[in-house]
Amino acid sequence: MTKNILNFHKETARIFAENLLQWFYKSKRALPFRETKNPYNIWISEIMAQQTQIDTLIPYYHRFVEAFPDVTALATAPEDKVLKLWEGLGYYSRAKNLHKAAKIIHEEYDGIFPDHYDALIKLPGIGPYTGGAIASIAFKEKVPAIDGNVLRVISRFNNYSGDIADVKVKKAITDWVAQAIPDAPGDFNEGLMELGALVCTPTNPKCMICPERDICEAFKEGMTNQLPIKSKKQRQKKLEMEVGIIDMGGALYLVQRPEKGLLSGLWSFPIIEEEKTKPGNAIRQTLKTVFPDLPEGKVIGNSKHVFSHVIWNMTVYYFEIDPVMAAEAPEKYGDAQAAFKDREQLAAVALPTAFSKLLALL
Ligand code: SF4
Repeated sequence: MTKNILNFHKETARIFAENLLQWFYKSKRALPFRETKNPYNIWISEIMAQQTQIDTLIPYYHRFVEAFPDVTALATAPEDKVLKLWEGLGYYSRAKNLHKAAKIIHEEYDGIFPDHYDALIKLPGIGPYTGGAIASIAFKEKVPAIDGNVLRVISRFNNYSGDIADVKVKKAITDWVAQAIPDAPGDFNEGLMELGALVCTPTNPKCMICPERDICEAFKEGMTNQLPIKSKKQRQKKLEMEVGIIDMGGALYLVQRPEKGLLSGLWSFPIIEEEKTKPGNAIRQTLKTVFPDLPEGKVIGNSKHVFSHVIWNMTVYYFEIDPVMAAEAPEKYGDAQAAFKDREQLAAVALPTAFSKLLALL
């Protein structure tokens, strides 16, 4: 039987923490950002890890900290350069917030990283999880860092049936962890996440090699595969989109996306939602406001891109135009900046993956 109330027992939590730390010191993965307690490096790695697998982010992490070795280097870099180094990681708001927060630390804290949780979570892009991770790992502050891994481990360890998508349940688990934190808060928080990533995995947890097996309630009750309880997220909305690629002798027409919303402020190919009754009409009519003599064009392929709340099913239309038509085009696309970019210029632009993968269709 699972429990619907999460109780805290001091002695059980003490043994849990002891087992966890012993296991973590022996079994942790050697990751580049674990070689340092520098809050800047921990911050970059934690932000990158939010929506990205560890193996994928490692080369990005190396490139990023090589280009921007400290807060000041990041704060004083042009945004284009920051976004370019983020290209391929997706969720660009993370990179923009890193840049904004670096500027605040540079200007308001003389480039010195705030050394406590309450100040950290006031910075753009740093929420309770990231603030907890930085504060505990870099500054040994006894604060929890609760991610999906931790919710799962604690829910199973306590055989607790609370829905981990529910804020009240998250709060109960956060309180449990906060009380369980021993004198090595950073190692404890990292150990919890590592246990969730390597042993107490979402499916088929490896209980036989788990350091907590002897005192794990879900293991005792045979409930490991039933927990945690998590109510389903709303399904992503599917949108049929039309993309227009305009090619002028190898240079492609890019437009800057609006400052708010999906992929805000980034360069993209013109894109618009399809008119259900007349496929191809929406993109063609929109492009004709800039290129009145636009030729017919052709469909060169389809592509799907999945964001957290939306799925774009894109039909890609290709138009070849001559330099005269390009020269007559205004520099604006509606209210947005627009420009032709040759392949070299294109390589210097942070083109989101949703669009860069369309280059393979050309
Ligand atoms: S014994 Fe199994 S269910 Fe319990 S914490 Fe370990 S891996 Fe997770």
